[in-house]
Amino acid sequence: MLNMRKVHVKRFTYPNVKEQDTGNYSIITKGREQVCKKCARCCKQFRWYIDESMALRAMYLDAENVWVEEHQLGNRYVYVLVIDAPCQFLKQKEDGTYYCELYKTTLRPWDCKMYPDNIPVHLWEIEQNYCPLVREALKKIRSKR
Ligand code: SF4
Ligand code: SF4
Repeated sequence: MLNMRKVHVKRFTYPNVKEQDTGNYSIITKGREQVCKKCARCCKQFRWYIDESMALRAMYLDAENVWVEEHQLGNRYVYVLVIDAPCQFLKQKEDGTYYCELYKTTLRPWDCKMYPDNIPVHLWEIEQNYCPLVREALKKIRSKR
């Protein structure tokens, strides 16, 4: 666990986490497009998994909408840099659903196209707090055990 004077950190623990499953699972959930259109959370808040050294630097940032999350996963710590600000290309329709202005262009970043499939399964326990698709995929894995 990091010690710091200035608090730009949010802590989370997962008391029931046992040995992490590192199996090769994929996040394929029925109707994911519809879920994403209503959610758009990954376009409203940016999140990166970072190492401990980077976390220490990031938590000293003097910015209101930036913080570090420290997740205790089993006996190890995982750090996430969070920037709580929406993407300028995220738009909302009158019916309340969201869309990306860059969706069909080559300018849409690869990470946007891949998320949440680019999140390794051993981090789903954390990521499920943010992405409903990951939550559903994790539920499916657990129901098969
Ligand atoms: S957070 Fe997950 S469910 Fe929400 S828009 Fe992003 S990928 Fe879709
Ligand atoms: S470029 Fe599009 S998909 Fe990527 S964060 Fe912005 S709105 Fe979301």
